[in-house]
Amino acid sequence: MAGSSADVVIVGGGSCGAVLAARLSTDPDRRVLLLDAGDGYVAAEGIPPRLLDLGVLPVGEGEPATWRYDGHLTDARRVPVMRGFGLGGSGAVNGGYFVRATRADLAAWDSDLWTYDAALPYFCRSETDLDHRGPRHGDSGPIPVHRDPPDRRHPISAAFHDAALDAGFPAEPDKNDSAAAGIGPVPLNARDGVRVNTALAYLLPVRSRHNLEIRGHTRVLRVLLDGDRAVGVQVERAGTVETIPAGTVVLCSGGVGSPLLLMRSGIGPADELRGVGIAPLHELSGVGRGFSDHPEIAVPYRYRDGAMHRPGTPVLQVCLNVGDEYELRPYTASFTDLVAGSPAMPPQLGVALMNPASRGEITLDPADPQGLPRVRYRYLELETDRRSARHGLDLALDLLAAPQLRALAQPLDVDRTDDWISAHLGTSQHLSGSCRMGPDPDAGAVVDERCRVHGLEGLAVVDTSVIPRVPSRGPHATAVMLAERAAELL
Ligand SMILES: Cc1cc2nc3c(=O)[nH]c(=O)nc-3n(C[C@H](O)[C@H](O)[C@H](O)COP(=O)(O)OP(=O)(O)OC[C@H]3O[C@@H](n4cnc5c(N)ncnc54)[C@H](O)[C@@H]3O)c2cc1C
Repeated sequence: MAGSSADVVIVGGGSCGAVLAARLSTDPDRRVLLLDAGDGYVAAEGIPPRLLDLGVLPVGEGEPATWRYDGHLTDARRVPVMRGFGLGGSGAVNGGYFVRATRADLAAWDSDLWTYDAALPYFCRSETDLDHRGPRHGDSGPIPVHRDPPDRRHPISAAFHDAALDAGFPAEPDKNDSAAAGIGPVPLNARDGVRVNTALAYLLPVRSRHNLEIRGHTRVLRVLLDGDRAVGVQVERAGTVETIPAGTVVLCSGGVGSPLLLMRSGIGPADELRGVGIAPLHELSGVGRGFSDHPEIAVPYRYRDGAMHRPGTPVLQVCLNVGDEYELRPYTASFTDLVAGSPAMPPQLGVALMNPASRGEITLDPADPQGLPRVRYRYLELETDRRSARHGLDLALDLLAAPQLRALAQPLDVDRTDDWISAHLGTSQHLSGSCRMGPDPDAGAVVDERCRVHGLEGLAVVDTSVIPRVPSRGPHATAVMLAERAAELL
């Protein structure tokens, strides 16, 4: 694409941005420019093998495909949290679990444009389900969806599956078309053990389009406004700052990146912006506020018969959903084996609260507004979440005591107190709702139901930050659906 302006500038080529760039550039008369701060590899062969291997999590310290910040999960518990950096975004480094939001999750978006029935064609369009056919599955979409069959299950996956069934939980053979939440195989965005992220699936096949340009290593510093209209972006590339004019700017910078960019552009809570020395240009009180994510308690155990690491096995093959409240995750290896450079850690059963009441906030650091953000999760601040956490831990310990699992795994030093839970608290890294969708900016909505920023022309946000409430399943499949649908709505 010649020149350095575009009809649409997309900021971030992650799970959503890659989809949007591919879909919007199907119109040859629309010039689309996709910018990403990280690597903008030009061919599938350029993707580092570790990003394709579903048997590892490429999120270790120093991993160039991630950036990390200090996550304040509670006042006492701080952990490093990663986000993807470069084409494919967080979907290039994630666990590969690809489960749709439920009907109830989408009802919470409170828009006729986003009911489950309205979203279904876009879920289907995004995928080729290799296991299930029929009207509620896609057979020609870019993302292959696959479930590991029973004969490929890690012993822990198999034992957990059988223990959950014996405990009376319903079988859930297809988590993407389910009558009742229960125990079943995890749909994976993968083929032959390769993690298929959206850049690989959507973008690389169309990157030679004359009207699509992809620029990596280009960090957007801010969105440029002329009155109430976005007119372009200011970027930094190889130490040089330049301006790129645009007809429309779409932020796809992720649950943390998009609110940061809005705030750095003077769009957000006015008092807070003034407090960090940024002149407010457009007040939107909800930017960065009210996000939700899935707290996850790590229940450690030891293998009774020594090491059970099976390289190449997906991180998660089966999981148990208990209504919309809990997801129990029998990881197939310890994080020491999954994440390069990790300290020695025992294997663990994850207990995630999938519908937490807590809400967090992202703010700029007054000492360095262009630097790392402050991300406060406020996990377990409310008694209702603490009660859920205790109950979820009970469920996990009951399952670990079942004969199938007891034969393989012995829980380590677990006690059922709030203190123990807090000390073993992590995050699922599913942050959503930091620029949430809704009709009323005074009630904290940042974008309308078509993903357009309230009160501004030519500026939209399409990524997990607009999902009003974190879905009761992992968000990746829903993020892809969101971008598919938004490509039509914008
Ligand atoms: C380690 C990990 C494991 C996970 N596991 C799962 C899982 O198994 N299943 C699941 O459902 N979900 C999982 N998730 C969550 C899921 O991957 C994310 O919610 C989803 O990928 C987010 O998509 P997105 O498009 O909103 O943002 P991202 O995919 O994070 O994309 C944001 C993009 O914007 C770019 N960017 C940011 N700021 C700028 C800027 N200023 N200028 C230019 N570019 C910028 C980034 O480089 C990145 O490419 C996981 C997340 C992580 C981090």
